[in-house]
Amino acid sequence: MPQSAATGALAVEGLCKAFGDALVLDQAGLRVPAGRVVALLGPSGCGKTTLLRCIAGLERPDAGQVRLDGRDLSAPGAFVAPERRRIGMVFQDGALFPHLTVAGNVGYGLSRSERRGARVAEALALVDLAGFGDRLPASLSGGQAQRVALARALVTRPSVLLLDEPFSNLDTILRIQIRAEVQRLLADLGVTAVFVTHDQEEAFVVGDEVAVMLAGRVVQQAAPAELYRAPASRAVAGFLGDANLLPGVAAAGLADTAIGRVPLRNGLRGDVDVLLRPEQLRVSAGAAATIDSVQYFGHDAIYLTRLPGGAALRVRVLDAPEFRPGDTVDLDYVGGPTVGYPRASAG
Ligand code: ATP
Repeated sequence: MPQSAATGALAVEGLCKAFGDALVLDQAGLRVPAGRVVALLGPSGCGKTTLLRCIAGLERPDAGQVRLDGRDLSAPGAFVAPERRRIGMVFQDGALFPHLTVAGNVGYGLSRSERRGARVAEALALVDLAGFGDRLPASLSGGQAQRVALARALVTRPSVLLLDEPFSNLDTILRIQIRAEVQRLLADLGVTAVFVTHDQEEAFVVGDEVAVMLAGRVVQQAAPAELYRAPASRAVAGFLGDANLLPGVAAAGLADTAIGRVPLRNGLRGDVDVLLRPEQLRVSAGAAATIDSVQYFGHDAIYLTRLPGGAALRVRVLDAPEFRPGDTVDLDYVGGPTVGYPRASAG
């Protein structure tokens, strides 16, 4: 299915939505450049599905705007019906019609004449299911069923594709395989997409950018490496992977901490908590900290170390661990400039 140049720059601003007394979207904003994939990452219940449903037009926001290529889909006084938005959706469970064949499912949203043409076969070929058209959904594996759901969303040539935890019902191996395939497919097609997940690894693999959503609001949107390196707040830092926060005193781009000087990206002064990722720390024989415990995972290992003042630091090593609980070690920071958070702020 040839897709022309990337279409569909999506912009969401100030979106609010309450169900009864519960404010589920609180000034949510999101921007998806044309042809890019933004992974929407957040804990269960933070409002991800509600945001997606507002973008699709399945919910009416109480306030705010949804714009596609500069055109209002949803704004004060404007509301474009879902079927006229050119937005495709893939849900967690695929939601195929069990009594229709694979081809019948994929062609469901097309006109009769479109169904007779090659579009259904093209869409199935795209998701690597050529020849599956006559099968019934019950005869498909979970991964194949999700690929049919994807073909059904793509066949209408949407400007934007919304995927709501599309792989969460699949087992781990299949999930890793299919998400890599889908990532490649979306990139090849140049489809603008929002991909909802609560799995950080999945968000980083699939998203050109990741938007972190907490309590009804997108609190930071950036490329995965930027987000990991410089989370905008403690809450985001803690949500994205392992985060050590070590007290220090900052001045002139450096923080003095219990393990020495740490370079800072942000020009803070005074009492701070400094973000140190476990892989940015090295252990060596010494006396600065005590090893409390060792967790060996095969591909890496984590030492839980404790400083004399009581602060705990997690340290990742790639080799089999050479130290044991009770050993004392020195700790060094070996990463690049990192971020600090003012101690007084809770954010
Ligand atoms: P999950 O990752 O668990 O799917 P989510 O981030 O997608 O969660 P939403 O499904 O958007 O979160 O739900 C956010 C909150 O809004 C939840 O507390 C949910 O119970 C509530 N909610 C969602 N839809 C409705 C509705 N139609 N009526 C009442 N409450 C709703």
